[in-house]
Amino acid sequence: MKKTFSLLVIIGLILSAQAQHINGNYPGRTISFPDIPGYVTLKTDLHMHTVLSDGEVWPSIRVQEAVRDGLDAISITDHIEYQPHQNDIPHPDRNRSYKIASYSAKDEPLLIINGAEVTRNMPPGHANAIFLEDVNKLNVEDSVKAFKEAKKQGAFVFWNHPNWEAQYKDGVAKLDDLHKKLIRKDMIHGIEVVNDVTYSDEALQIALDYDLTIMGTSDIHGLIDWQYDVPSGGHRPITLVFAKEKSKESLREALFEKRTVVFYNNMLIGREDYLLPLIDRCLNPQEAKYLTTWAGETSVVRILIQNKSDASFILKSKSEFKFHDVGEIVVLDPNSITELKVKTIDVLEEFQLKFEVLTAVTAPNTHPEIELTFEVTKE
Ligand SMILES: [Zn+2]
Ligand SMILES: [Zn+2]
Repeated sequence: MKKTFSLLVIIGLILSAQAQHINGNYPGRTISFPDIPGYVTLKTDLHMHTVLSDGEVWPSIRVQEAVRDGLDAISITDHIEYQPHQNDIPHPDRNRSYKIASYSAKDEPLLIINGAEVTRNMPPGHANAIFLEDVNKLNVEDSVKAFKEAKKQGAFVFWNHPNWEAQYKDGVAKLDDLHKKLIRKDMIHGIEVVNDVTYSDEALQIALDYDLTIMGTSDIHGLIDWQYDVPSGGHRPITLVFAKEKSKESLREALFEKRTVVFYNNMLIGREDYLLPLIDRCLNPQEAKYLTTWAGETSVVRILIQNKSDASFILKSKSEFKFHDVGEIVVLDPNSITELKVKTIDVLEEFQLKFEVLTAVTAPNTHPEIELTFEVTKE
């Protein structure tokens, strides 16, 4: 009897471990951000490689990494023209990484988008075309013809690592006449402001000046865990996409409509239209209660601010009130509640705190400002 019981316990433990995997829930690892009003927040990484170009893993490993990170969508964008493993792995069909990844993700809550990296010298450099029907048709000599074919297939196209020091020695993203022409002809729709472990203020400015979608990707070739030190709490760069629903078509529509915020190295980069609602949903002012001492009630109020996201927020106070326990800089750790004490001078029923969000960027050297409203709770 006892043996049967412990066997059942063991089976139960195995089943619960499997259930945890099926739900894509990896505590401490899954990247989480709240939805914003009217949209679901899709966590995406739309630039990565496998052994089918110059990467070092099979496509199914990309799927498993993404499931562990709790991503909603990925695109494996193997180089079309650059095929260094071709002697070992013949690669006649450039849609293979998509097909293999789609099969291995068939029971996972992960959307797989067919994509590829158009890999040319500068200009135009490298660009990702995603939502392709047939990658093979982009395997043509003339680079502009590849962009034309991508457009014909309805692809969303973004310029990759425009700050790559191998192509621009100074690491400064700049547009060539060819890029301007491709943007004008609606053949480039987005630009990577973040690629792997690089961030480009200049690329962000180009995105704003030319009305392009702000993108951030891992461009991973090896392993996500090693590149971003995930076991020590690191995370890959991702693009948060605000879609009407979790589907390929909604994701595509949202990318064309520029509804993105990039999460990279604990920074949030995006247009104010989406960054502000996101921060608003991440930060939740909770309790506010005036302190009482042996001498009676004070005008020092204890507040709690909840951070419901995986980003650590660094805020700089812009309020008229001073804090009783910290200076002007406030740090809100991910998925936690922070306690602060504020000197409001008068005892108030409600008050606002204003902050500049130093870890959020809407334009080069520009941080958004937020206001948190606290309602005082009485005894
Ligand atoms: Zn590239
Ligand atoms: Zn790449």
